[in-house]
Amino acid sequence: YFKGMGPEPLGNEFHLPYLKRALSGKKTSIKAALLDQRLVAGLGNIYVVEALHRAGIAPTRAAGRVCEARLERLYHAIRAVLEEAIEAGGSTLSDYAAVDGAQGGFQHRFRVYGREGAGCVAAGCSGVIARKTHGGRSSFWCPRCQR
Ligand code: ZN
Repeated sequence: YFKGMGPEPLGNEFHLPYLKRALSGKKTSIKAALLDQRLVAGLGNIYVVEALHRAGIAPTRAAGRVCEARLERLYHAIRAVLEEAIEAGGSTLSDYAAVDGAQGGFQHRFRVYGREGAGCVAAGCSGVIARKTHGGRSSFWCPRCQR
């Protein structure tokens, strides 16, 4: 049970043990959990979609049922995606937060977002990117390498 806003995704309070604890036992989807501001503050849809692809996790997977190895990949993927976005767009830490849009040049680095029907870029994967819209937010994922 979380009160108020969760930690900033690039801050010191957002660490792997925290993420594990926060997702533990959760039956909601991993995507919905990451978009919940009480769990982690200001993580936009695009960044969640991109991070889940890098971590090999299907957006629909139950948050509490992500295996340890993938959870660790997810943690690093969230940070990597945000750092790349900031670097590409020259945006400040506060910019990326609320906006559910691509910042600056980061849109050219999308691996799944907006790429439905295209081939998956993950190493050794021959999957095709799928898209589904739920509650006004689009999910893009590779059904082959995201489990
Ligand atoms: Zn794939």
